[in-house]
Amino acid sequence: MFAQFKLHERLLKAVAELGFADPTPVQAAAIPPALEGHDLRVTAQTGSGKTAAFVLPMLNRLIGDAQPRVDVRALILLPTRELAQQTLKEVERFAQFTFLKAGLITGGEDFKVQAAMLRRVPDVLIGTPGRLIEHLDAGNLVLGDVEILILDEADRMLDMGFAENVMRLTEACARRQQTLLFSATTGGAGLREMSMRILREPQHLMLNRVSELNENVRQQIITADDPAHKERLVHWLLANETYEKAIVFTNTRAQADRLYGHLVASGSKVFVLHGEKDQKERKLAIERLRQGGVKVLVATDVAARGLDVEGLDLVINFDMPRSGDEYVHRIGRTGRAGGEGLAVSLITHNDWNLMSSIERYLKQHFERRVIKGLKGSYQGPKQLKASGKAAGAKKKKTDRKPGEKKAKAARPKAPKRSEPTVVVSQDGLAPLRRRKPAAE
Ligand code: AMP
Repeated sequence: MFAQFKLHERLLKAVAELGFADPTPVQAAAIPPALEGHDLRVTAQTGSGKTAAFVLPMLNRLIGDAQPRVDVRALILLPTRELAQQTLKEVERFAQFTFLKAGLITGGEDFKVQAAMLRRVPDVLIGTPGRLIEHLDAGNLVLGDVEILILDEADRMLDMGFAENVMRLTEACARRQQTLLFSATTGGAGLREMSMRILREPQHLMLNRVSELNENVRQQIITADDPAHKERLVHWLLANETYEKAIVFTNTRAQADRLYGHLVASGSKVFVLHGEKDQKERKLAIERLRQGGVKVLVATDVAARGLDVEGLDLVINFDMPRSGDEYVHRIGRTGRAGGEGLAVSLITHNDWNLMSSIERYLKQHFERRVIKGLKGSYQGPKQLKASGKAAGAKKKKTDRKPGEKKAKAARPKAPKRSEPTVVVSQDGLAPLRRRKPAAE
């Protein structure tokens, strides 16, 4: 029940209007300390309900202390345009019974129109770091009165090279009273350093994503001989699995384009999203996927970030993600809001050890699956070490071409426990029905 939180009645009315019955685990964990004014560092992924977990306390602060508005009072930083747009919608939905106004500043939109919007001074400003900095430098933006600063998907903002811009914007919010930092992964040293610099005595809330994986999504691997074999497997899965919408992840833009070309040539309705696609193409791809005109998206991790599309129930890892956290993030897109999902990773001998590290990190054993008629000669290592890795694999230096970089094994780093850490289990979620794999 949301009524358990000390939220303003206008916010509770909006929550009821939206039909949210019970808070999700991240909301239950983060809303009370955020309402008390604490700084928070929250590890939770997209789809967990994290947006409401920071938007509700933020709005509560702004309603509770209705001052004549002079400058922006709340700033939300996000890595991608889509995520910023989705967050604006969420803020507007929760603020529908208040007088609070929100504005959006992202790249790819008209600068002058944005400057005019800033002159009308929204209470809440939502944006991506690059364009916000441009407005700051142009003198269009004053952040000195920001009371609450929120960084969402902070790990990805660092990955995308926004660290310096984020720090500049943070420093511009010099008089802020509260900072909330959300990230999908526990992140590396960069994120720890940023947290230490910008958060004051934060509580660290870690949502237990592993149990979420257990319950929501069936996870399988299929061994493959080479990329061409993987392409045949993708064709088969897309043609034979039962799914509403599917996403195929590759690690590189070049591979995404190649696979897209093959799928289009075979008559599939597919879209591709990667960093080189412009804003128009991204909007079109997401729109078509939402409407259901296109069922399959081929994407790289960065491009798929912030994607919130309902009915995404099949994830294919054409390439294995480079870390366990990234795996969780990819898979976390399926089986949302109690739905069920299927994740299939295609594994060549180059991928095996990475896959096995991720299994150990997540304490999972992925189901081994074979598709009749598409069985390759590679069936996994002949001998396994106790860790599950290939025995003697280290000697196989010939696997890589000269100069080719070795895929970084997923080595989970424990978060530095300099701050109170609360690990929140998601065991309260209803167990899900298991789907049957398609006939093979
Ligand atoms: P997020 O993780 O913030 O991207 O949220 C994922 C989706 O879950 C969004 O469409 C939200 O509107 C929805 N959602 C968030 N909290 C709840 C809740 N307590 N009950 C039902 N749906 C929710």
